[in-house]
Amino acid sequence: MCRIHVGIDDTDSPQGMCTTYVSCVIIQKLKSCGFSLEGYPRLIRLNPFAPHKTRGNGAVAFTVLAASSGELEVIRDLVLREVEGLAELENENTNPGVVFHTGEITHEMRDFSLRAIRSILKIDDARRVAEKAGAEVHGFKKGRGIIGALAAIGCPLDDRTYELLTYRVPENYGRPRRIDPDSVRRMDEITGDETFDNIDGDYLAIEPHTPCPILYGIRGESPEVLMKAMELVEVGEEIERFCIFETNQHTDQHIQEADRISEMEAFGCYRVSGRVRDTPRVIEGGHVFFTLADDSGEIECAAYEPTKDFRRVVLELVPGDVLTVYGGIGRHGTLNIEKMKLERAAELYVEENPLCTCGRRMKSAGRDKGFKCPSCGRRVRNSRKVKRVLERSLVEGYYEVPTCARRHLSKQLVRMGIRGCGVNKKPQHS
Ligand code: ATP
Repeated sequence: MCRIHVGIDDTDSPQGMCTTYVSCVIIQKLKSCGFSLEGYPRLIRLNPFAPHKTRGNGAVAFTVLAASSGELEVIRDLVLREVEGLAELENENTNPGVVFHTGEITHEMRDFSLRAIRSILKIDDARRVAEKAGAEVHGFKKGRGIIGALAAIGCPLDDRTYELLTYRVPENYGRPRRIDPDSVRRMDEITGDETFDNIDGDYLAIEPHTPCPILYGIRGESPEVLMKAMELVEVGEEIERFCIFETNQHTDQHIQEADRISEMEAFGCYRVSGRVRDTPRVIEGGHVFFTLADDSGEIECAAYEPTKDFRRVVLELVPGDVLTVYGGIGRHGTLNIEKMKLERAAELYVEENPLCTCGRRMKSAGRDKGFKCPSCGRRVRNSRKVKRVLERSLVEGYYEVPTCARRHLSKQLVRMGIRGCGVNKKPQHS
């Protein structure tokens, strides 16, 4: 038995199609030709800041079991024909790539994959690694998709989740999706210990908001729970097909540990610790910013408007708070927060005049003249202002953005076995 790895990427455009759908069609055709797959197909999310991504920067790989490597020819013909037929080739930014690999997954391929998740690569980087590993690459037009295709094959999945995707019949593409929200709520209640990010208030997180072929996608810890969840979701339209993918979604595979703020680079995603340097501020559009600093430098951190209530948490930070932030550095050098841990809350206090023995608060008796009680007239010469510690509305612990703002790769606190904190609504200054 011979294992033939197939990687596919960059087949879609904002107007339609989806690499997962193209892969599903191909897999079904391969199966009807008598081939079988090893395990589940893999949906691998790559760097969320890749400049040419259409949406979620996903690429697909699967492993075909063939009687001999001679069958590669049949598989190659079928895969390339389908990619050519289904990809949105007329779109300028759609540059499909397909990779076939019959050997072992090399150390360089794994390394390349992690680099595609954590940094920005060039097509030539992919060509070089593929050539050294003996992988066969096929690029359509500019062939940029070979970056994602090779990365999807090489991605190590120590931690993994699953996603079940259902697809619409083509005549419904672009039409409003008919998914019963109550059934999604019920599904979430029943399976919510093992599925995640299904619904957020009235926002149906399982529903895409683009004209792509996907009707909905449910994410969870196992294929079994996803099958159960699918049975619970009621829809008012035909489902053409469905497929379960093994994924690196919600594993934090994009996050690198940064020991110092100065070592972080644009388009990288990091976990980094520092001290809050200034009071968080809101700018037009409702975005919230503050500066995080350590001995090596500082970085502007942001909770953008789509992170909704998470911004209220960020607004409660005060200078001196010690924080660990997880997030990615965008084009403008700002770190977009995905989650954070308040490691040590700074003491928040006000300085007040002392209380008199009669119970009234004293007044200043003039510069360097101490205090005087307005009620009983008592004077104290040397007394200093007293510090009154204010209760903080943030407790030390973890906070994360809501479901509607979550990145594909971002690991939910619940998956980390951590209970997140909520913000106490009491005003900060009493
Ligand atoms: P969808 O999620 O809907 O499938 P997409 O967001 O994955 O779409 P693609 O159409 O696949 O977007 O385009 C992403 C392109 O960027 C691909 O050509 C892929 O090879 C390339 N790419 C992915 N990761 C990187 C990276 N780290 N550096 C450079 N290019 C990358």
